[in-house]
Amino acid sequence: MRVTGFTFNPFQENTWVLDNGTEAIVVDPGCSDRDEEERLRHWLKENGLVPRQLVLTHAHIDHVLGCGWMLETYGLLPEMHRADLPLLHMAERQGEMFGVRCPAPPEPQEFIGEGDKVRLGTHELEVLFVPGHAPGHIALWSREDRFVISGDVLFQRSIGRTDLPGGDMGTLLTSIRMKLFPLGDDVVVHCGHGPDTTIGAEKRLNPFLR
Ligand SMILES: [Zn+2]
Ligand SMILES: [Zn+2]
Repeated sequence: MRVTGFTFNPFQENTWVLDNGTEAIVVDPGCSDRDEEERLRHWLKENGLVPRQLVLTHAHIDHVLGCGWMLETYGLLPEMHRADLPLLHMAERQGEMFGVRCPAPPEPQEFIGEGDKVRLGTHELEVLFVPGHAPGHIALWSREDRFVISGDVLFQRSIGRTDLPGGDMGTLLTSIRMKLFPLGDDVVVHCGHGPDTTIGAEKRLNPFLR
């Protein structure tokens, strides 16, 4: 499975596209204007990829800004953890807080949580429930390709903020230690903001976790 990242919107959010050469899963569509939408659309087309599924790690606005466009363009509704629905419903208000226009995102019809599998052809991602930054935060773990899409849980040398509604520092640290650290030191972490890292590097060097 190939993993490609795009950095979008004023929050410099990472949108991830997972593909198997013909089909794709889009995670956290952050595209917020015509240019960003075109960058993603053009790249998918150039690579002959049809997006089949849209998954949200959590429902902060920087991760959902492109949901309306994904529905219009590809007919996909977001799939997410049920516990982040209140945040999704607050998207317009979150936008006002940060001075970013965020039309109400489309309502999910499918919810995913711990132990569920997200499939792409013969590939499989496991859903990990990792609350703390947001109450319904999930991560996507590829056992076979040794990577995890961590959203805003774990960053290179940092962790997600916990001062937003539904955030809790103790819960976040537990999620990282109990759910992400056991995946293995070699595992690559594709973060919701900033560069990639590995579980091993963060165990050794992350000032919040040493
Ligand atoms: Zn967030
Ligand atoms: Zn974010």
